[in-house]
Amino acid sequence: MREKRKCTICGKELVGRTDKRFCSSLCKANYHKRLSKSTKCATAEIDKILHRNRSILLEIIGKGRSQMKVPLIELERRKFNFNYMTKYITNKQGKVYHYVYDFSYMTFSSNEVLIIRNKI
Ligand SMILES: [Zn+2]
Repeated sequence: MREKRKCTICGKELVGRTDKRFCSSLCKANYHKRLSKSTKCATAEIDKILHRNRSILLEIIGKGRSQMKVPLIELERRKFNFNYMTKYITNKQGKVYHYVYDFSYMTFSSNEVLIIRNKI
């Protein structure tokens, strides 16, 4: 005997195609609304940190420059959060580029940071 399938949202019994998950387009829309809300709540805090980090890098490098080396303390002073990035790349020399969206930075043992504005 086949198990009765129910709508993910309202629990109403489903009829028709076996891959159906919702009884109506309203329930489907509700599901996606909930999913999107849940993702928004869970990611808001980290998004804020990343956006702030990008703003700090932009503020330091200014409008005209494509790269700039600054003392590490310059980022620390502005409360840059080194725990979050959008990706990282290790080059052939083993140096790590930490990305914050379209910006990246590399730290040096001299306590300096090279900030790079990348073209997307
Ligand atoms: Zn339903």
